Amino acid sequence: PLVLGIETSCDETGVGIVRGTTLLANTIASSMAEHARFGGVVPEVAARAHLEEIVPVINQAVATAGIRLADVDAVAVTSGPGLAGALMVGVGAAKALALALDTPIYAVNHLVGHVGADLLDTTGSGGPLEYPTIALLVSGGHTSLLLVRDLVSDVELLGETIDDAAGEAFDKVARVLGLPYPGGPEIDRAAADGDPRAIRFPRGLSLPKDMAKHRYDFSFSGLKTAVARWVEQRADAGEPVPVADVAASFREAVVDVLLTKAVAACRDYGVPRLLLGGGVVANARLRAVAIERTDAAGIALRIPPLSLCTDNGAMIAALGAQLVMAGHAPSTLSFGADSTLPVTDIQA
Ligand code: ATP
Ligand code: MG
Ligand code: FE
Repeated sequence: PLVLGIETSCDETGVGIVRGTTLLANTIASSMAEHARFGGVVPEVAARAHLEEIVPVINQAVATAGIRLADVDAVAVTSGPGLAGALMVGVGAAKALALALDTPIYAVNHLVGHVGADLLDTTGSGGPLEYPTIALLVSGGHTSLLLVRDLVSDVELLGETIDDAAGEAFDKVARVLGLPYPGGPEIDRAAADGDPRAIRFPRGLSLPKDMAKHRYDFSFSGLKTAVARWVEQRADAGEPVPVADVAASFREAVVDVLLTKAVAACRDYGVPRLLLGGGVVANARLRAVAIERTDAAGIALRIPPLSLCTDNGAMIAALGAQLVMAGHAPSTLSFGADSTLPVTDIQA
């Protein structure tokens, strides 16, 4: 089926067009730059940007795909989780489109969409996604560990962050180090010249007592505080802050805890497959350590290209196409934006 997918859960206005698992267009406009001076995504600013961008982005995706809107078989849209006002723009646009084109509409889960990105033929990660798989989704808004037995019918949340998301931690620590927003790429760059063992920062929820209750959960706010305190003490002592060493040591702590828990989930559930998704996948150290540890554990690692890891419409279209092909009934038009949609609700 020819499916058009719309994604507006955070700061990317994304429209993707797929035919089955073939990617035809993946057009994105981001309001990232508008949030820079606030040091994080401002919901009102994001929603307004979506309003301005949604129609041009739809038009550009259609032009890129070389299709006619009238040929679209189904519309898919992120209905949650995400920023309520931002989601509403995409949901409104998708409903209008589906009504005008007289097509079915599929309201889908953003997190499951991140997993669906890996189905697109362009991923080059070697053959179709096999089930079950463990998925580690790491971005500015989420840090989740999923057990995916079937993309359209059986997704289980094993754990998630209990405070900050991984990307958010990068952004906050960057601010502590005087680096601009978004902090992820800045810290990655600074860390390249640093020693990851220079400072031993805490690995959140990794102590035996925490593992009992939070085996697959994450916590990054303690780490952020530890970095801030360490930097403060140096400054108070009148000593220069070794930015590269702090960045490398912080990055190591994040990557270590993410992959320790992801690999533990693979082992515990006997699942020899790990899929990464979300904008933090851009992190050079995360990718390197993921390759090392999955190799050592005999786990097949899948990392979609970065353009499909960050928020995009193609992953939503891909999930919509899977629902169509599995014969799932479309959503009724009464659905709305649901900022806390649980991952078990693959379709709203
Ligand atoms: P959502 O959480 O809904 O997916 P988002 O816009 O917050 O939305 P993305 O756009 O997928 O998430 O990713 C942005 C985040 O990824 C930011 O927090 C950014 O700092 C982080 N990031 C980007 N590049 C890197 C990197 N090289 N290392 C670490 N973090 C990175
Ligand atoms: Mg984003
Ligand atoms: Fe996302």
